Amino acid sequence: MKCNVPEELNPFKNAQRQLDEAAQILKLDKKIHEFLREPMRIHETELNVKMDDGQIQKFRAFRVQYNDARGPCKGGIRYHPEETIDTVKALAAWMTWKTAVVGIPLGGGKGGVICDPKKMSQGELERVSRAYIQAFYRYMGAHKDVPAPDVYTTPQIMAWMVDEFEKLVGHKEPGFITGKPLELGGSAGRGDATARGAVYTIRETAKHLGIDLKNATAAVQGYGNVGSFSAILLKEMGVKIVAVSDSSGGIYSEAGLNPKKVLEHKEKTGSVRGFPGTKPVSNSELLELGVDILVPAALENQIIGKNAANIKAKIVAEAANGPTTPDADPILYKNGVFVIPDFLCNAGGVTVSYFEWVQNLYGYYWTADEVYEKLDKIMIHAFGEVLKMSLDKKVNMRVAAYLVAVKRVADAVKLRGWA
Ligand code: NAD
Repeated sequence: MKCNVPEELNPFKNAQRQLDEAAQILKLDKKIHEFLREPMRIHETELNVKMDDGQIQKFRAFRVQYNDARGPCKGGIRYHPEETIDTVKALAAWMTWKTAVVGIPLGGGKGGVICDPKKMSQGELERVSRAYIQAFYRYMGAHKDVPAPDVYTTPQIMAWMVDEFEKLVGHKEPGFITGKPLELGGSAGRGDATARGAVYTIRETAKHLGIDLKNATAAVQGYGNVGSFSAILLKEMGVKIVAVSDSSGGIYSEAGLNPKKVLEHKEKTGSVRGFPGTKPVSNSELLELGVDILVPAALENQIIGKNAANIKAKIVAEAANGPTTPDADPILYKNGVFVIPDFLCNAGGVTVSYFEWVQNLYGYYWTADEVYEKLDKIMIHAFGEVLKMSLDKKVNMRVAAYLVAVKRVADAVKLRGWA
């Protein structure tokens, strides 16, 4: 399925534009630049799955292996009715930069299935997940390509996938996939790792900008895994969460929300809306609230050329992938909005995925506190390197993150003699 959206909103075109800008500043060799503009491999197929009513349904499925010069490909699998190959390619590119920016020895990949998990039974989801592995297992493995959960895929889905993979290859290989339940070799601390990493980068930004988190306010768009944990962890650091939202809309409270109670409400009712003592707020209004910290934690293309000038937050922490378009970036930068770019901000998930993979290969497991401590060190270090690059080259944080990451991947490609 092609991405039939305007050029500005095509995520792969945006990923390429961002790379091009970095390549120009880095004066990257033309051949290496061309090599990095496209995925190394794209696997695409139709999954034929028997549904509960006995009918066979076809689902389009993708696995993009963007670049593995620095190590096995790494990246989640998304189940979404509006999934497109261009979205998967963009996300695979961003994974390549993400593993590089945090300096972990992995490449970048991504997968997707066009399906609507909200309309499927557990049995149907299991059969789609096993069919996905049957289609692509030859190209995957702990030393080739290591998938993980992403939008609408869960630890249970990872469990079905590792089980199917191990049946097909005939041996145990827990490091084939991450985000597994603890019982099957998952890592302590994986559940909230992405949010935790994002909150560590917000803490470092606040230190840099001289913002006291105890007097700060935040709005969080998206209340799934990343959004809800971000709100909970920010509140633990003393930040007042004034607004949150999900796909059905948002809520606002000047006095501040209790994010754990909001999560309980969402689990009970299916939405954050209607939480007692709050006013409704639309997703677009939430983005433009006068808060210190805005955390887009839902989908791509939320802050675009049209609304960028209305963003009042001092810090935009891109917990989601691709929430800001390249047209919006210069406007935010000019207005002094400090953007923590997605592939740095949300790298906590892949970093703890990397820890899970290491523990699986090692056969030795760490406590949650050990995981958090190691994660914090990696996030502080990566944030510091990107900030230094941004100050040295006088570029925004996204360009700086690209400069750090692209150089690492380009050097690995060059050393291997691939371009
Ligand atoms: P999730 O499925 O758990 O949650 C997504 C949330 O976004 C849900 O609350 C949904 O209602 C909400 N949402 C959907 N459309 C929306 C809209 N138009 N406006 C507002 N809210 C909307 O997904 P997640 O795992 O939390 O992922 C969120 C984002 O973070 C995605 O961009 C994903 O790629 C990125 N991300 C996730 C991880 C991870 O470890 N889960 C890691 C890195 C990046």
